[in-house]
Amino acid sequence: MKKICCAIVEAGSSKKNKTGSWRVLRPKVLKEKCGKCLLCLNFCPEGCIELNHKISIDYDYCKGCGICASECPRMAVIMEKEEK
Ligand code: SF4
Ligand code: SF4
Repeated sequence: MKKICCAIVEAGSSKKNKTGSWRVLRPKVLKEKCGKCLLCLNFCPEGCIELNHKISIDYDYCKGCGICASECPRMAVIMEKEEK
């Protein structure tokens, strides 16, 4: 990764920097409540939510911001304390 002082000048650095290590709260999708509307997927700033038969979260990149839980119309995402 090329850096000038503290600026990152190359695209794609987020693939190397696993932002999930910052997380203090972990989203958990309650599959019995989820209607697969994809709102959480569209609002996630990290792009780490996928739909493969069910909603899944890539915890290597999830920062635990809680936007998915806030935006879910069915309250199907809960935020739990991260166990490290
Ligand atoms: S926003 Fe809620 S109901 Fe919609 S896909 Fe995400 S978890 Fe499921
Ligand atoms: S907590 Fe934030 S980063 Fe993690 S899946 Fe939800 S919206 Fe994405």
